[in-house]
Amino acid sequence: MSWEKNVRKVTPYIAGEQPQGKVIKLNTNEFPYAPSPMVATKIYDLAQEELDGSSSMLRKYPDMDATKLVNAIVSVYNELYFSETEATEEMKQLGFDNVFVGVGSDDVLAMAFMTFFNSDKPVLFPDITYSFYDVWADVHRIPYATQALTDDFSIDINDYMDKENGGIVIPNPNAPTGVYEDPSKFEDIVRANPDSVVIIDEAYVDFGGESCLPLINKYDNVLVVQTFSKSRALAGLRIGVAFGNEKLIKYLKDVKFAFNSYTMNYPAIELATVSVLDTDYWKETVARVIKTREWTKEKLRELDFEFRDSKANFIFASHKSMPAKEIFEKLRKKDIYVRHWNKPRIDNHLRISIGTDEEMKELISTLRTILRDEDPVNT
Ligand SMILES: *Cc1c(COP(=O)(O)O)cnc(C)c1O
Repeated sequence: MSWEKNVRKVTPYIAGEQPQGKVIKLNTNEFPYAPSPMVATKIYDLAQEELDGSSSMLRKYPDMDATKLVNAIVSVYNELYFSETEATEEMKQLGFDNVFVGVGSDDVLAMAFMTFFNSDKPVLFPDITYSFYDVWADVHRIPYATQALTDDFSIDINDYMDKENGGIVIPNPNAPTGVYEDPSKFEDIVRANPDSVVIIDEAYVDFGGESCLPLINKYDNVLVVQTFSKSRALAGLRIGVAFGNEKLIKYLKDVKFAFNSYTMNYPAIELATVSVLDTDYWKETVARVIKTREWTKEKLRELDFEFRDSKANFIFASHKSMPAKEIFEKLRKKDIYVRHWNKPRIDNHLRISIGTDEEMKELISTLRTILRDEDPVNT
């Protein structure tokens, strides 16, 4: 058919399965606990307001700047990241114009790719990383060049220091490896590339890493992206955020508003606002996940799994004797879902999200059975 030659053809992103029913789901890095109870309370309040007619907000277009949410993020993040530097004059605090919000960080990242990666030079990112980057590059016709991680899945900083490029994007901790790199490494990359925008995707930084956020006051070419989907337990609500220099944020907003001004709906803005303000609940539940992760690491090691240390809410592991694919399939038969990719360099690895203590105990005991059944001594 003739029109087909004019179609923008892309290979879509493939997400982990979303199985229905009672399964143990450790395949898409969702948070194992409910979001802040303030969120459910707010849903109830919003429904009440609609019902009694005291404020029928759904009838109207939402605030396209999501002012309420951005203000909440500004106050909470200033407290979290800039309170110690408050005293020093030259260290600015975070302001309204340093923050961009979107429908999940996937939306924020897609907008950032469209806005900042607009040259003929290739965008650089690791060969093993979030598998959406090459998809966005393809859909926007952005040239890219992947940079091989070292054998132990570290970033070789030299790959990003003196190569001509049209931009750089790297997650910290990296996905799906879980490997965390010190912010000083990123500062070196940002400093060495003043002619490109460097995007640091911090989807998992809350699980034990240090954020690169303070870099935005020192450099005008760094964008730090975070999400409410992982540590704030709101993957279903779709909230993402980017931090950067005022100029960078302005350019990002221009593209967003040229594309669709009203992506963030009114309930989402309200619910995300109460979520971000409940810092105590967030800290407490994140600490629980970290504790469970450390327990899981110990148990996996006892079962002869090997992995780089993870500072995310998942562990990327391979087994000393049983192939990853076989373990993946055997777990799946027992209704335990983890993630496996048939991709070079990582096809003998499983990415295991951290669930509740009960889920991880079930995983470990099921793994024990699977591995023991294969043990020649027992057969
Ligand atoms: C989960 C994830 C995201 C996106 O999450 P959203 O739900 O779209 O906010 C972005 N980057 C990485 C590396 C992720 O793992």
